[in-house]
This record gives sequence, C-alpha cells and structure tokens, in this order.
Amino acid sequence: MKKTEISVIGAGIVGLSSAINLVKRGSKVTLIEKDLKGQPASYGNASWLSSPSITPVLMPGMFKKIPKMWLSKDGPLFLRFPGVLKMIPFLIKYLSYTKKEKVEHISKNLAFLLKDSIGEHRELVKGSKAERWIEDSPFLFIYKNKTDFENDSYTWSLRKKHGFELVEVQKEELNKIFPGLSQEYTFAIKIENQGYISNSQNYLDDLIDYYKSLGGEIIEDEVLDVNSSDDYFTIKLRNSDLFTEKVLISSGVYSGNFVKKFNVKVPIESERGYHLELFDTNIRINHPIMNGYLKLAITPRPTGIRFAGLVEFGSINSKPNPKAFELLMRNAQSMFPGITFKRKMEWSGHRPSTVDSLPVIGASERSNNLFFAYGHHHIGLTAGPKTGKMIAKQILRDNDKFDLDAFNPHR
Ligand SMILES: Cc1cc2nc3c(=O)[nH]c(=O)nc-3n(C[C@H](O)[C@H](O)[C@H](O)COP(=O)(O)OP(=O)(O)OC[C@H]3O[C@@H](n4cnc5c(N)ncnc54)[C@H](O)[C@@H]3O)c2cc1C
Repeated sequence: MKKTEISVIGAGIVGLSSAINLVKRGSKVTLIEKDLKGQPASYGNASWLSSPSITPVLMPGMFKKIPKMWLSKDGPLFLRFPGVLKMIPFLIKYLSYTKKEKVEHISKNLAFLLKDSIGEHRELVKGSKAERWIEDSPFLFIYKNKTDFENDSYTWSLRKKHGFELVEVQKEELNKIFPGLSQEYTFAIKIENQGYISNSQNYLDDLIDYYKSLGGEIIEDEVLDVNSSDDYFTIKLRNSDLFTEKVLISSGVYSGNFVKKFNVKVPIESERGYHLELFDTNIRINHPIMNGYLKLAITPRPTGIRFAGLVEFGSINSKPNPKAFELLMRNAQSMFPGITFKRKMEWSGHRPSTVDSLPVIGASERSNNLFFAYGHHHIGLTAGPKTGKMIAKQILRDNDKFDLDAFNPHR
C-alpha cells in the first residue's frame, strides 16, 4: 500500500494553498482530488479578493426581508423543494446568528482572516506563473441613491470599525468609471487597495503546476473514507488505499461527509451559487462592482464580464436551476441596458456554508494528526492562502502566532 507523510483532501483554493505551504516547508505531501477538471466553487466564484467582506450574509433585520427575496420574480434567494425541507434545522440555527453580538463576533474574526488578501495571494505564488492572474483594483458598491446606502449603515459601520476607508462616488464620476451602466445607479462607495483574480481556471491550473514543481504529488481519485488507528490513517480511495501520518480535510462542502465521525459538529450545508460569463462584450469594466439590490458581484475578465451570486438552498445533488441563469441574464441586461456579447458560459456550484458563517480551521481533539480547513462560505478565495498558511503551521506544530479559537472545529 502507498504511504505518504501528509495527505490533503481536495484541490480547491483551500487545499491547494495548504498543500503549497506544506511543500514549501519541506513536507512530503499528497494532494487528493476527485476531479481535476471539476470546476469547484474555487473556479466558479466571482474572483474577488475581498478583504471588506467581513459581514455575514444574514444581518440583523434580514428575517423580515427573506419572504420578498424568495417570492419576488427577481429575488436572489431560491429554495428548492423537497431538498430544502431537510435543511430546516440548519436554516433555523443559521437565522439565530443574525443577532448583533453574533454578527460582531463574526465580523471581528473575518476581518482577521481576510486582511490583506492580495498580499497573502502574492506571497503564496511568488515567483510562479500564477502571479499574472492577480489584479489590483478598487471595489465599487453601487446604489440607486444615497438613501439606499444609508439604509445599509450597519454593514458600513462594521467595515469602518475594522479600518476600511469609504470614498463616496457621485453619479457623474460613476458614469465615467462605468460607461454603459444603467442610469438608475446614481451613487457608489469605493474601497481602494483591493483586487481580484482575472482568470480563475488559469489561476487554479497554475497553482497545481506550481505545487508539482515544488515536489508535491497529486492523486486524482475520490476519497470514500478516512480511518484512524494509533499512529497512522488509512484513506480509502475509490481505486486504492493510502497510508498517511497526517491528514488535512479541505474538501469544501463535501468535508461534512468525513468529519462527523471525528466529533466535529459545526453544521455545514451547500449554499448553491451561480455565474454567467459573457464573452466579447461591447461594454468593458475595469473594476469589480457589487450590486447589493441584486446580490450580484460583477467582475472584469480579459475577454468580457462575469456576473456571480444568488443563493440557493436545496440538495447538493440537485441540478442547477435554469431560472437562476435566466435571472442572471436579466440582471446583466438591466445593469448594462445596451450590452451585447458573442458567447456566454453558465456555471453553478456549492459554497461550503457553516451555520455560524465562520470556517472550520484547526486540529481535531481526537487526534494530533488530523486537521480541518473548510467551510469558507462566500469568502474562500479571499481567505484561502491565509488559511493554508495557518493550517500548515499547525500541522507542522509551529502555530503559536495565530489565535484560531473562533474557527475551532469543536466549537
Ligand atoms: C457564485 C459564487 C461566488 C463566490 N464569490 C467569491 C468571491 O468573489 N470571493 C471569495 O473569496 N469567495 C467567493 N465565493 C466562495 C468561494 O468560492 C468558496 O468559499 C471557496 O471556493 C471554497 O474553497 P474550497 O477549497 O474550500 O472548496 P472547493 O472549491 O469546493 O474545493 C473542494 C475540492 O475538494 C474536492 N473533493 C470533494 N470531495 C472529495 C473527495 N471525496 N475526494 C477527493 N476530492 C474531493 C472537490 O472536487 C473540489 O475540487 C463564491 C462562491 C460562489 C458559489
């Protein structure tokens, strides 16, 4: 049977960042990925390296807005029956985290995790081909008018509290920054010194190449089970077994399948998201835009524009919802009324959403050699490299600089 020192399960941004950190520090690492061409959440996201995303999706007062978000034809929330019925206990708990003191706890810890995401990405990939996909940029959060922005004041007060400087942008300037944007939008907030990944597929491919160039090994196979005995683990793969001294479970939303038997009880569910990418558009944007009404992040691509967002609760096994793609197209056309394009691409995948909006990062209480890094919700691309750096330090028993209490797997 094949043997290795450290096995990392899942080659999304979190697994890859962890594996790269470990090989850089001289460990013998085997990364196990069930489908190297699978386009997971780490591919399909909006590609924002978004340090200001420190507030959870569910904010105080959200409860009252949910019926409209779900029932309105253009609402960003989808509930898929019958799958969502099984999620009811999770959703009830999820809603309990909208209390102010809980939101402030989440924000404080996300502010720590998301800080200087661009610097963390650059450090991870320094000297590799992957560097070319990291773009510096401001973010613009657009509103129909200033009153709507003021109605969001709690979110913005949290961002200010954590050091983000808000620059107001008036209609004339907004028109200059985004020619072609609907005249309905007359106000925006700009946050400087942010960034995004300009091509998420190429970025992930380059990260894999970089990891291999550092001596990392990859097995393309599906992990079916992880079993521990006194001083090693057996990873049961679909096509073989693997002996390993240490294991990191970092398989996104699928991590939930492996962790229960190790007494990790933080509930996790899929929050399905969607993107629509338009190619060879007549309208080009230079900076990412957040549209809070449509719950949509819009990101420049070298070849066009990606519109990403929406939230769907249902089953992880359900098929993508055609209505969500129709909505994305309507949204793209309402934001940019004259937009034309030559080709479109549609994608859907699963955000790994924990019930308290904080990821699970840390060691198992059952074994000194078992580790977890998953559950990054809406912020996994932003937080991946820092998570990878912190968990690598823990795995190599060099973690005294980080306080990971809030992310404790057994919280
Ligand atoms: C529409 C949308 C927009 C988003 N926008 C942003 C954004 O702009 N910025 C941001 O920071 N975040 C964003 N996110 C969130 C972000 O994409 C996720 O948090 C992040 O990608 C999670 O990374 P991961 O590595 O944990 O999981 P994944 O990317 O899901 O990777 C997990 C990997 O594990 C593999 N795997 C699973 N099970 C097994 C198994 N049994 N055996 C072997 N391999 C296995 C999977 O094949 C997969 O490759 C967005 C998400 C969505 C859906």
